[in-house]
Amino acid sequence: MTLGGLRTQCGELANLSEPFRELVTQAGIRGEVPHAVRCVVERHRVGDELHHAVLAELPLADAGDIWVSWLDSREPHEVERRVYCPVTAGPGIPCELHALHPDGHSWELAERHVTG
Ligand SMILES: [Zn+2]
Ligand SMILES: [Zn+2]
Repeated sequence: MTLGGLRTQCGELANLSEPFRELVTQAGIRGEVPHAVRCVVERHRVGDELHHAVLAELPLADAGDIWVSWLDSREPHEVERRVYCPVTAGPGIPCELHALHPDGHSWELAERHVTG
């Protein structure tokens, strides 16, 4: 979706419940699990397309990140390690999204500032 030619991140907020955070912590993710995450892929249709956010970074640079996915207004239900998108915009400008992300690469998307 484009707004006056400006491509933006989705920015949808998902609160992570205490039971969910405990589950993830027990699954062996190190470090602090956030209380909320925001969708970082390009703004998309809601309802039937998943939101995607990084939950935790992994210590090895090539191991990818731990991502969560969810549908609108629902608790995140998929937690998966996903490798990085292999596309770059040039030296030192990697795409920060996962390899199977929909739509635009991270450098094509402006951050969307959402209140609330
Ligand atoms: Zn989204
Ligand atoms: Zn990409």
